[in-house]
Amino acid sequence: METAQAPVVAVGPLGDGPVQIACPKCHQTVLSKVDYSSGLLTYLFCGGLFFCGFVLGCCLIPFCVDRLKDAKHTCPTCKTVLGVYKRL
Ligand SMILES: [Zn+2]
Repeated sequence: METAQAPVVAVGPLGDGPVQIACPKCHQTVLSKVDYSSGLLTYLFCGGLFFCGFVLGCCLIPFCVDRLKDAKHTCPTCKTVLGVYKRL
């Protein structure tokens, strides 16, 4: 299983990685800071696994997988929330 992930720098719509974006508050072009939170899809995924993999503890896996989580972009300078990328 591959866990290492190269930082992704992209310019454009919010995705699940840091993007260059103009902060509306401090009026600078910043590289957004991304925080991952467990979103709806994570819980759905967990719920599905809960029924078939509870004994094996598989239901905890989604909470370790950033790819399944919502990505919240914040300005590294003023901490303003710039946007949230949702999976659903
Ligand atoms: Zn800012």
